[in-house]
Amino acid sequence: MRFVVQKHQASRLHYDLRLEVQGALVSWAIPKGPSTDPGEKRLAIRVEDHSLDYIDYEGRIPEGEYGAGEVIVWDTGTYQNLKDKDMRRAIEDGHLSVYLQGEKLMGGYALTRFKQDEREKWLLVKMRDEWADEDTDILKDRPESVLTGRTIEELREN
Ligand code: MN
Repeated sequence: MRFVVQKHQASRLHYDLRLEVQGALVSWAIPKGPSTDPGEKRLAIRVEDHSLDYIDYEGRIPEGEYGAGEVIVWDTGTYQNLKDKDMRRAIEDGHLSVYLQGEKLMGGYALTRFKQDEREKWLLVKMRDEWADEDTDILKDRPESVLTGRTIEELREN
């Protein structure tokens, strides 16, 4: 199954993690973005599922539309479900473990729901494996699109 992380300069900058599950993209908005450091817990707010063809969307959402602003494909690749139950069930149960094979993100990541009010709030945490890295800020080091090499700022200026 495929995944994407889109960097999205809406009214606030955030990263959208989307996992392909049964023909849709189950999605979370991550205000601070993913981390490779297992000691960092990142808030991930569940948002609407997106259609699968959004997986390679990059461009500018026009003013006046929901999420207006620039979007780049910050990372993409495939993932494996590390749980012995299907993804929909794991999402309902509020705990996922996935193994990402992207261009930037690699290895195990856990997603755990901790609160459900008007939105489902989850935490995204890097699992401890050979890809865990406490010393690298991948968001700073690799700001560019994996599809086009453009940054959000370059997209905005064009
Ligand atoms: Mn977004």
